[in-house]
Amino acid sequence: MTQSVLELSSVDRHYVQGPNTLTILKGADFALRSGEIVALVAPSGTGKSTLLHVAGLLEYPDSGDVILNGQSCASLSDDRRTAIRRKEIGFVYQFHHLLPEFTALENVMMPQLIAGLGVAEARERASQLLAYMKIGPRAEHRPSELSGGEQQRVAIARAVANAPLVLLADEPTGNLDPATAGYVFEALEALVRHSGLAALIATHNEELASRMDRRITLVEGRVVELPR
Ligand code: ADP
Repeated sequence: MTQSVLELSSVDRHYVQGPNTLTILKGADFALRSGEIVALVAPSGTGKSTLLHVAGLLEYPDSGDVILNGQSCASLSDDRRTAIRRKEIGFVYQFHHLLPEFTALENVMMPQLIAGLGVAEARERASQLLAYMKIGPRAEHRPSELSGGEQQRVAIARAVANAPLVLLADEPTGNLDPATAGYVFEALEALVRHSGLAALIATHNEELASRMDRRITLVEGRVVELPR
């Protein structure tokens, strides 16, 4: 069996609001293997974003552990977690968060330049990724000149620019019409299959979820596998 790249082990996460404690994750266990795409499908407010934030080292679990590529991350310092997150995890959100004053190509080059890659190398990889996402011809355009589907494809290319192990996506097609959502998902799938990345994608889109390798949901704070 392929090794897990990301594991949540007995994760608890709660939020304290005045006198109330809101328990979101309680004993959540989950494993994501290299090369697979998993759908996270659950009603709003059940904790999908929380799970993605904990898995992506943006939030600490209150107890339990997040193991990334064999490394336990729960008790690492903030700085160490940030360094690991930058290298190993790509995020995509419902809204693209691209930098408006830069072209699509430059947006995908940016994380690579920050990571210390040379301009020529970053440009080459960014071009390849945009071609993979089937928006090569739009590379020199700024986000405002791109359609919603094109913007999301650039955001996905940017998320994987530094070749992370894991892609975490929070409703990446939530803002798109069904046909565009399908097209964006196809491009994402091709990229994951090509790169051997692992992806966990929160979505309300049942049709897309059914096209992924597995579907999971959240029930009373625990991760439950849905039948095929
Ligand atoms: P989903 O992504 O499934 O819609 P979330 O993970 O965003 O759910 O939120 C789960 C619950 O936790 C919601 O009731 C939300 O209001 C609450 N919540 C999320 N983040 C915080 C926070 N930082 N402080 C307090 N409550 C929060």
